[in-house]
Amino acid sequence: MAQNILSVRKLSKTYPNRIMALDDVSFELNAGEFLVVIGLSGSGKSSLLKCVNQIVRPTSGEIIFQNQNLVQAQGQALLKLRKKIAMIFQGFNLISRHTVLSNTLMGALSETSGLDSILGSFSKLHIEQAEEYLRLVGIEEKINVRAAHLSGGQQQRVAIARALMQKPEILLADEPVASLDPSTANTVMKYLKFVNQELGVTIICNLHYLSLVREYATRVIALKAGRIVFNAPPSQITDQVFQEIYGENSAGVDIK
Ligand code: ADP
Ligand code: MG
Repeated sequence: MAQNILSVRKLSKTYPNRIMALDDVSFELNAGEFLVVIGLSGSGKSSLLKCVNQIVRPTSGEIIFQNQNLVQAQGQALLKLRKKIAMIFQGFNLISRHTVLSNTLMGALSETSGLDSILGSFSKLHIEQAEEYLRLVGIEEKINVRAAHLSGGQQQRVAIARALMQKPEILLADEPVASLDPSTANTVMKYLKFVNQELGVTIICNLHYLSLVREYATRVIALKAGRIVFNAPPSQITDQVFQEIYGENSAGVDIK
């Protein structure tokens, strides 16, 4: 039977400039799902992911993960919960002058003492783990290359390896392939699918391209002006639903 891993209840976020990015968002997530969040630019997709890992603190609502409300968690308890929710970004966010290995090891920083982190002394075990994850994303031959010398697709694969170092239960991906050409985008999505299916990591991924949505999502949530307007398997995205999500802008959204 499917097991719940995350409950988002009545989540709202109003930024200090009074923009309401999320408006009463509620959904359940089961372990093992590959949930894709779609919606126009500005619909609240990034705000939702940032609230889930608490980079952004919601204005109201609950996010229940492992029987604890992330919205109310503080200090060490919050850090411990956040470690299990990793995130990757459209811009990869690697340190460009550092090597692939060094960037990957950053994912294990929370497991090293402050001083070890400063000295860059990671355990043999961490280095072996990093090598294993870099093999998994097919990038082991670049291990000593600086991140600046990698292509976008390669950088995102390193970012995936870095995220895996946290041993996450949930991986949040904020438009992870939006800066990549279609073929590279597909390669990166295949690695995310592997992480989902073979490593059992639950995924929430913001995406713009509907073709990718149909191929990779087990379920789709659509946001419009901060509200959920669709929550179902991708096969149920009919032309009518598409119109509702993208409205008159749909002609300009090259994603069908
Ligand atoms: P999406 O990822 O779907 O493009 P966002 O979550 O980035 O949507 O943004 C939703 C709305 O919140 C937009 O109107 C955006 O301008 C606004 N917003 C996002 N981040 C901030 C912020 N840090 N401060 C103020 N407004 C923000
Ligand atoms: Mg965004």
